[in-house]
Amino acid sequence: MPVIFVTNDDGISSSGIKVLSKALRALGDVYVVAPDSEQSAVAHALTLNRPLKPVRTGNRSYSLNGTPTDCVIIGVNRLMAERPDVIVSGINHGGNLGDDVTYSGTVAAAMEGTLLGIPSIAVSLAIDRQSGGDIIITPSRFRTAAETAVKFAEAVLKKGLPKDTLLNINVPDAPESKGVKFTRQGRRVYDNSIREISDPKGNRHYWIGGGAPIWEKGEETDIAAVIEGYVSVTPVHLDMTNHKALEFIKKRWKV
Ligand SMILES: [Mg+2]
Repeated sequence: MPVIFVTNDDGISSSGIKVLSKALRALGDVYVVAPDSEQSAVAHALTLNRPLKPVRTGNRSYSLNGTPTDCVIIGVNRLMAERPDVIVSGINHGGNLGDDVTYSGTVAAAMEGTLLGIPSIAVSLAIDRQSGGDIIITPSRFRTAAETAVKFAEAVLKKGLPKDTLLNINVPDAPESKGVKFTRQGRRVYDNSIREISDPKGNRHYWIGGGAPIWEKGEETDIAAVIEGYVSVTPVHLDMTNHKALEFIKKRWKV
């Protein structure tokens, strides 16, 4: 039986991870190690300034007072009896598209798995803010994303992944999938949505976020695929070097 490690950034009690871990049991032995509270937008953060305490929440299931990256490191190296064959992170409540990948705790968990040499995938449900981004998402809404996660976990178990590469999968919020498109990472046009508020003493505070994201339209991008109703699958490389720029700078810059 393949061994599957499941984590997320929305926390162990979120609907997405419950639906995902249940669906993946069709493929193998599932271990769950996930944050005890929501860790969205913590990216690849690692906890170094306090101890991490796992709490058993069920058979092969633990919560941890840390980040998604902490969960992968402690889970794989200490809590699991066997090394996982695949890591699946998600299902995130909300898309991880374009530049937002750099903020994502969901994708970072898959990055950590990749660094440990374990094939890893991140799965997100791209929820349109106007059509219910702020309402409670029922488990049934994750069904298509869970089916997609199982399909790709199975493919990764059979075929593996290219070196240092994870799959970032975004599933549109629809009862059925129109199909899969292999995509590149798109671009977000930042609207710098910052809300200014005052506390009772009159001190000024700022609250980041809340604006609707605006996307640059580009062919073959993750965002274009999701808008058209397709599952977007982007291979993400951990080497962030811009190789074209490296060649250019080596040739042209005399410093
Ligand atoms: Mg999240």
